[in-house]
Amino acid sequence: MAASILMLIMDGVGDRAVEELDGQTPLEAAETPNLDHIAKFGENGLMDTISPGIRPGSDTGHLSLLGYDPFEVYRGRGPFEAAGAGLSLEPEDVAFRCNFATEKDGIVVDRRAGRIKERRDELAEAVQEIDIGVDFQFKETIEHRCVLVLKSGGLGGDVSDIDPHEPDSEFQEAVPLVDSEENKRTANILNDFTKKSSEVLSDHPVNEEREKEGKPPANIILPRGGGKVPELKGLKEKEGLNGAAISGIALVRGVCALAGMDLIDIEGATGGIETDTEGIVEGALTALKDHDFVLVNIKGPDIAGHDGRPHQKIDIIEKIDSALEPLRDIEDTYVAITGDHSTPVTIKDHSGDPLPLTIKGKDVRTDGVQEFHERACSRGGLHRIRGSNLLDILKDLADRTEKFGA
Ligand code: ZN
Ligand code: ZN
Repeated sequence: MAASILMLIMDGVGDRAVEELDGQTPLEAAETPNLDHIAKFGENGLMDTISPGIRPGSDTGHLSLLGYDPFEVYRGRGPFEAAGAGLSLEPEDVAFRCNFATEKDGIVVDRRAGRIKERRDELAEAVQEIDIGVDFQFKETIEHRCVLVLKSGGLGGDVSDIDPHEPDSEFQEAVPLVDSEENKRTANILNDFTKKSSEVLSDHPVNEEREKEGKPPANIILPRGGGKVPELKGLKEKEGLNGAAISGIALVRGVCALAGMDLIDIEGATGGIETDTEGIVEGALTALKDHDFVLVNIKGPDIAGHDGRPHQKIDIIEKIDSALEPLRDIEDTYVAITGDHSTPVTIKDHSGDPLPLTIKGKDVRTDGVQEFHERACSRGGLHRIRGSNLLDILKDLADRTEKFGA
């Protein structure tokens, strides 16, 4: 019987030499007995998620890891956020990420409406009632975040953001980024949506109450990151894999949902540092019982990277490591452990530095690598591959490929 496949993505785990750590990377400085064990009995290498020197986003990175060409299928972040929020999308819908924000006299005074947490569903319901001449779905996600999907044919996805991105700036008018009738139509609809959402939110009881309490009202919606929903061939059709995903972040959930994977929720698993790593690993092992392929994304290392905190990155890496004990001797499954991109603490953003990669499973050719980190894995038998090669390599090991030729 063909073996199953587990891909564990430590988001943003790769790093550079950090002076504060005597030139080590956080992964090198961390105590990681389980990761080291897996590397020792695995085959190791470096991986460029997209291609050398390209700085992946989490969305384009995961697309590549699932064997899609992000340069071909990626048309903006909005559709993945909306799919991750559980909205059902059709190819050609146009989706945006949005914020609830606070506006005064045309100036956005708080892009996040005080990171509003309460009664957002009531505000979203009121926005859903407005008439902009086309069908749309609007939904709140986490805190001030929300998503908008325009469900009408004949719309373009290349329009500029309403969100000014800077505080104390005027909110912007959407304009086509590429001159076309479809994009003009989308821009007009978006401008109308912004105006009408502001009207319906301004005197909404939730906002009246907020103002009484001295909180900034959520009186405008600021869409950004618009794009058309790509038509992705599902993993079942493309790879013959019945897949599932575990992730606390909407963007990654959305990529996996659009790839036709089952999304599995784990109680206590979040997109934060405090996430329940043991629960996640347990959930992945359960999911492997009725799926050929399970992808797990753990966000923590990326957060520490963006915050520029090497010691926090070490802590979260060690916390993940301590949850990996059950993967040491797992049978009938090929386990790959890597990241979706590097997020060096010295850069505080994603970089194109290649990631360490280890693959463990029956009869893999061990290569003398004794530890799991960037430098050790660079001496492994997989050498340097691209993210889009990874699923092929795993499928081949798991006896899930057809011979090419006679
Ligand atoms: Zn990421
Ligand atoms: Zn990031």
